[in-house]
Amino acid sequence: MMVNRHKDMQETCMCWGFACGDGWFNILNQLMSNIQHHIDWKEKQREYAIEYNKIAHQCKEGNFELFEKSMDSAVNQEYKNKRLAEIIAGDFRAVPESIPQVTLDQVKEKFGTLRFYYTGGDDEISGMVRMAESWASKSCEECGNVGKRSGEGWVRTLCDFHIAEREALRAEQMKKEGFEIAVANDGDEALAKVASFKPNLMLLDVMMPKKSGFEVCEALRADPARAGLKIVMLTAKGRDTEVAKGLAIGADAYVTKPFSTKELVAMVKAMLGVA
Ligand SMILES: [Zn+2]
Repeated sequence: MMVNRHKDMQETCMCWGFACGDGWFNILNQLMSNIQHHIDWKEKQREYAIEYNKIAHQCKEGNFELFEKSMDSAVNQEYKNKRLAEIIAGDFRAVPESIPQVTLDQVKEKFGTLRFYYTGGDDEISGMVRMAESWASKSCEECGNVGKRSGEGWVRTLCDFHIAEREALRAEQMKKEGFEIAVANDGDEALAKVASFKPNLMLLDVMMPKKSGFEVCEALRADPARAGLKIVMLTAKGRDTEVAKGLAIGADAYVTKPFSTKELVAMVKAMLGVA
């Protein structure tokens, strides 16, 4: 799969049905290069051991032809004598087994990270593969910068920039559904936007810069002028305490991430009583 990977993409196998963002290309590239180095190095060690044993075998039988050939002509006689004595006195080298060539059967994007399905290799290569998978789970699949896993529908790993881009896309989709939208990027901005935009419903992230979703929710619930505002908390999956806390301080509902825009639109429409 990665043969000729340095060529133009269209000339490689990478152009065939390989579904992952460009951000992970360096991880793939590095992994393939590490595996190749490892296999080449192991093969060299093997060749060296076989060659050494041949020389040692001859030397022990009093034939120094291969030994002489293996010694650089510039090496002085004293060194050569010392090496010869060592070889004759020493054991044969253990010959490592060849590493089975690695064949990638499939590379997939799965749960926001890369998954490699392959045959061949050894323990060290399996370690390299696990490392690459773990690296991908922390790198934006669009650009390769530090990213975190999140998602709607399926999990993706994205950096803050690409998360914002995705949020903007979601806002676009909500607009197409006929909603008027205002977006805030932190807790303070959220409160300011509520005051100026006067929304009927608010989707409120728990984790936000400046003020948390809880703080924003509490502030809004303490304000009688915002009594009609519906608040939907967005929480990460499995955070039951977050859900309980959100509802306790006055949120009307919650959505656990990841969620699809379709689900969200249906919920928002139901809460606002629009068809
Ligand atoms: Zn990115």
